[in-house]
Amino acid sequence: MSSDCIFCKIIQGDIPSKKIYEDEEVVAFNDIRPIAPVHFMIVPKLHVESLASCDTQHQALLGKMLLLAPQLAQAQGLRGFRTMINTGRDGGQEVFHIHVHVFGGGETLPKT
Ligand code: AMP
Ligand code: ZN
Repeated sequence: MSSDCIFCKIIQGDIPSKKIYEDEEVVAFNDIRPIAPVHFMIVPKLHVESLASCDTQHQALLGKMLLLAPQLAQAQGLRGFRTMINTGRDGGQEVFHIHVHVFGGGETLPKT
């Protein structure tokens, strides 16, 4: 838990979100600024800054987040999707609580 982290506040229910999945370790909620018709994020309840802060103790959690992506994407009606993990300011990360973006829907996504 980090007191000034927006995703920790969402996880605690202090900031509203459109949750599409929750269990004891992770939540998934819609991105407030979607870049595709379906765009949600898979977020661990544990506050970890970024992929670069992970080590072997996070291996199972990271695997769980990735394996949830196709399940939740299918449940959202997607036949294909893209995952994205922005890491560090230079990698485009804005919220420093690790998350996997999952998005798709509409037309076929461009290569880049
Ligand atoms: P990143 O650039 O990978 O750190 O992505 C952060 C994402 O969080 C952005 O796509 C934002 O649109 C999204 N975001 C920021 N605040 C909220 C919020 N309150 N609810 C849902 N998504 C949010
Ligand atoms: Zn956090």
